[in-house]
Order: sequence, then structure tokens, then C-alpha cells
Amino acid sequence: MAKLVWQDARERAQNVLDNYWDGRFPVKIATISRAMGVTPYQASLPAGVSGMVVKKPKEPARSYVESSESETRRRFTLAHELGHYVERVEVSDDDDFSFAEKREPGRYDLHEFYADEFAGALLMPEEHFLNMLDEGRSLIDIAAKFGVSLDAARKRRERLEKNPPQKD
Ligand SMILES: [Zn+2]
Repeated sequence: MAKLVWQDARERAQNVLDNYWDGRFPVKIATISRAMGVTPYQASLPAGVSGMVVKKPKEPARSYVESSESETRRRFTLAHELGHYVERVEVSDDDDFSFAEKREPGRYDLHEFYADEFAGALLMPEEHFLNMLDEGRSLIDIAAKFGVSLDAARKRRERLEKNPPQKD
């Protein structure tokens, strides 16, 4: 059976953690992004845009986050943009693409789903996240530990309940 989108996103996020993460919390997403070849910038983006990633042929990729947003949002957006990069470059071998995140909910396609699943798995490493849940820690504690918004922590919990990690 072909690997499911969420499985691929999680596995690649875990792979990034294995290769680039120093084991500390919160996960240093800007450092990891840079190490993987996506240079992150904070900028004042067009109205309604919270982030973007741009890759031109033979040029390094760059990601942008809206500087006026909260740190937790910016961190998640950076991880989401890195997810787009991984999906395009590693999965599809594409070297010419761009994505922009609009604040107003619009098209939510597989690319967005992939990037969100990747970002959640990267910022909230599975084993540690599940351990905190097992210990009965509150989502507020969990969100603070991982440097994410309460919404992002809640979403990660939902995703792990819907598709629990499989032991092989
Ligand atoms: Zn996106």
C-alpha cells in the first residue's frame, strides 16, 4: 500500500529531528530551517498573508513570516513552510515553486495538509508529546513546553488521536 500523506509527513519530520535537532525544547525551528537550506526571514508581508516560501531554480529557498504575528505563530509558520519545501524538494524533486499562507481560510489541499502535519510533528515531537499527555499535563503546559499556540497543541493531539502512531 502506498504510504499515506500524513505518514510521509510525520516520517520526514522525525527524520529532520533525528538529523538536525539538538534534543532541546522548544525545537529551534529557524536554526533547523537554515541548516536544511531554507533561509528564514521576518518581513512585513502583503495584507492577509502570514507566511510564504519561495524556491527558484538553482537558488536557495527562502521563507518569510509576518513579523507582527506572535512568536508561536511565526514558529509554526516557519515549520509549515519547511514542510512545503520538504514535500516539494524531497518528495517531488521540484526546484521551482512557491506557496503563500493566507490568513483567510481558502483552499485547503494536500500540500497544506502535508505542511501542517509536518509542522506539528516537527515542533511537537511525538514521543515527548504523548508522554506529556500520559502524565496528564494540561494543553497549556504542553503548548508552553513546545513553544506553540494552544490551538496548535490541540490540533496535534487530535491528529495523534485520529491517526495514532503505529508500532512496527
Ligand atoms: Zn501552506
